[in-house]
Amino acid sequence: MKVAVIGAGVIGITTAYELATLGHEVTVFERNGAAAEECSFSNTGVASASYAAPWAKPGMLKHVLSHLWQRDTPLRISNPSFAEWRWLWKMRKASNSNTFARNRESMLRLAEYSSHRMRTLTDTLNLVHERSQGFMVLLRSERESKLMQASLQVMRDAGLGFKTLSAKEARDIEPALSPETTLAQAIYFPEDEVGNCRQFTLLLKGEAEALGVKFRFNTPIEPLTAAQPKIIRTSAQDLGEKFDAIVVCAGLASARLVRPLGLHIPLVAIHGYAISAAVREPLDAPRSGVIDEKYKVAISRLGQRVRVSGGSEMGGNANRHDAASIKTLYRVLDDWFPGAARTQDSVQVWKGSRPMLPDGPPILGASGIPGVWLNLGHGASGWTLACGSARAVADSINGKSPDIDLQGLGLERLHLQR
Ligand SMILES: Cc1cc2nc3c(=O)[nH]c(=O)nc-3n(C[C@H](O)[C@H](O)[C@H](O)COP(=O)(O)OP(=O)(O)OC[C@H]3O[C@@H](n4cnc5c(N)ncnc54)[C@H](O)[C@@H]3O)c2cc1C
Repeated sequence: MKVAVIGAGVIGITTAYELATLGHEVTVFERNGAAAEECSFSNTGVASASYAAPWAKPGMLKHVLSHLWQRDTPLRISNPSFAEWRWLWKMRKASNSNTFARNRESMLRLAEYSSHRMRTLTDTLNLVHERSQGFMVLLRSERESKLMQASLQVMRDAGLGFKTLSAKEARDIEPALSPETTLAQAIYFPEDEVGNCRQFTLLLKGEAEALGVKFRFNTPIEPLTAAQPKIIRTSAQDLGEKFDAIVVCAGLASARLVRPLGLHIPLVAIHGYAISAAVREPLDAPRSGVIDEKYKVAISRLGQRVRVSGGSEMGGNANRHDAASIKTLYRVLDDWFPGAARTQDSVQVWKGSRPMLPDGPPILGASGIPGVWLNLGHGASGWTLACGSARAVADSINGKSPDIDLQGLGLERLHLQR
């Protein structure tokens, strides 16, 4: 089949690669001049089946509201639009314990499959990208440990492998963790990985090209039309090019592209920040990845760099940097790994927009419009979920049952939750 993939982020590139391995003639359309220039550019890089969980969970709204006026709030909301208020309402509705448990299970199923697929691709194609093994959640107080217990029980019930560590045991694994900062306990996920999402995406793009995938960069695509949904147009006047199938992998822009088809996908941007700086002294730097549960700030090691990321903003300007959020990143880095990075010079400061659905899992598979397929809405876990999502969507397009059950990962669940 002749297939068009819209978007060359980690989701579009993995999808194009998988389709090409199945023998399809694939063209990727991307509005930027290169792959992984938007949300897949500088994310934390944590690929964690254990941590890929819906934000919509019991007590979520109370948590958000109770932090709204705090200086180090984990979610900043500024001037939300009507669509964003609707999204928050839908998120609240999806936060009851039954819906959360269902969505948690769907994401976990996909994340485990994805982790397996990512390792297979990395090993068989010899994709040498910056990566390290293991991920640790740092709990500063007994209170945080107590609050974590419910989530840990969910992970235990799901059969996830993790260890609860004392401060000393945590420092045996991450020796540079500062003794000056109180660490009550840590949760360690030995199977999780930290990896460079952008590097992986660019390497896989090369593999896709070798399989014959064509790339049309600097080519923004117009929204699809109900009259001719399988035609790709680059302007309103363009007669367009016809495909047998189109896969929408356009991250945050996906909702706009499919709206004329009558698909109302509740995607919003949740902005976040990452600062990346060269390692100053390897002995003072993390070996892999950690997250400070209190501030929701992650610190990861990517080769010769340290990356610190966090912050969640709804509304506001995607290009304007909030000084307080960035200051929190520096402060948390200094709390845990003082002196690890050269933060005085050449720091890359990045703001990215997570393409978030209100309930958690992405949308994979058929759109209900013949020939139009969806692989979008991966929110805060796109790197974790990319390889499995791509394989499952490619298999579906190929008319083969995917290796995992896609129950709870399709578009239909959003109609059910209306
Ligand atoms: C601060 C931060 C930290 C994160 N940390 C992690 C993490 O540790 N682990 C994890 O799993 N995930 C993480 N994520 C989430 C992850 O980065 C995203 O889920 C993922 O990158 C989304 O990939 P995507 O391909 O859907 O979107 P994108 O990378 O944004 O790609 C979409 C592409 O579509 C293109 N496009 C859009 N519209 C059009 C059009 N009309 N025509 C042509 N092209 C178009 C865009 O230019 C873009 O290149 C993080 C995100 C942020 C912001």
